[in-house]
Amino acid sequence: MIDFRSDTVTRPTQAMREAMANAPVGDDVYGDDPTVNDLEQWAAERHGFESALFCSSGTQANLLSLMAHCERGDEYLCGQQAHNYMFEGGGAAVLGSIQPQPIENEKDGTIPFTKLAAAIKPDDAHFARTRLLSIENTINGKVLPLSYMAEAREFVNQHNLKLHLDGARVYNAAIALDVDIKTISQYFDSMTVCLSKGLGAPIGSLVLGDTAFIAKVRRWRKVLGGGMRQAGILAAAAKIALTDHVARLADDHANAKKLAEGLNRLPGFTVNTGIVQTNIVFTKVDPSIDQQQLATRLKGKNIIVTPGNPMRLVTHIDISSADIDTFLYELEAAL
Ligand SMILES: *Cc1c(COP(=O)(O)O)cnc(C)c1O
Repeated sequence: MIDFRSDTVTRPTQAMREAMANAPVGDDVYGDDPTVNDLEQWAAERHGFESALFCSSGTQANLLSLMAHCERGDEYLCGQQAHNYMFEGGGAAVLGSIQPQPIENEKDGTIPFTKLAAAIKPDDAHFARTRLLSIENTINGKVLPLSYMAEAREFVNQHNLKLHLDGARVYNAAIALDVDIKTISQYFDSMTVCLSKGLGAPIGSLVLGDTAFIAKVRRWRKVLGGGMRQAGILAAAAKIALTDHVARLADDHANAKKLAEGLNRLPGFTVNTGIVQTNIVFTKVDPSIDQQQLATRLKGKNIIVTPGNPMRLVTHIDISSADIDTFLYELEAAL
């Protein structure tokens, strides 16, 4: 199968499966799992934070972070397109009694600081207390520049807020910017990283922050039912994702570019290649094309796409450059 639905569909590699089979484990709720402890210590150091927590998903990692930064009646500023506003079931509000204050993102994914400043509430009982700015990098495959993140740091310092990065795909941003991950993470009070997207681990995300923050995050993880026992089996694969699968993200980006250019050569498909910066391609599809029928025909050729306009196609470790050629060939044939 050539599966373009998401970079979450990847299977663990043989090296990951072997590491999982051989991982020393213990009960992580007691702090006894050596493989989890190793991952958390290593990851904290690697990303320039005091502490780290391994948890089940990116959604959980964001929720725990928001609940650790904000109390009941507080609010966080975020983009209208932010994953932790749009696509996480309203978890911060539902489970944390935290109010989101979304602000329209610009086309490049940034949120203007003038609008953010205007949304900060005065200290008055009529209002929720503004505590946090949460930004996302990459956002819909687009990379926020280092200058924007530096400005965000200045902005939160000036307004006495904390700064969180939803870094589900932050390694894609680091590769696209050609910088070490610490060049990005240095600006943030907390950061989450999905290990189960482009990095290819089967399960797991990280929350990173200072010691007091991670202690709170760890407490909320248990409260929310996220305490895992012999989780070293997962942490073993997660560490390989971080040590062995970062540099190769450049291949996914090159494949996305190749895919975008190929689509632009086909009738009925239009990609703005300027916004294909990482591993996600959005293509407009001419309404005369029956996308359901197209998806069914492609499925018959072992290719999976999600109909939509724009249609989103994601490259990852299980899609090769040759697979892009195969896809473009089969797509043209199926039109
Ligand atoms: C996928 C994603 C998440 C959530 O991760 P899950 O592991 O699917 O819960 C959070 N933020 C962003 C930006 C994402 O792309």
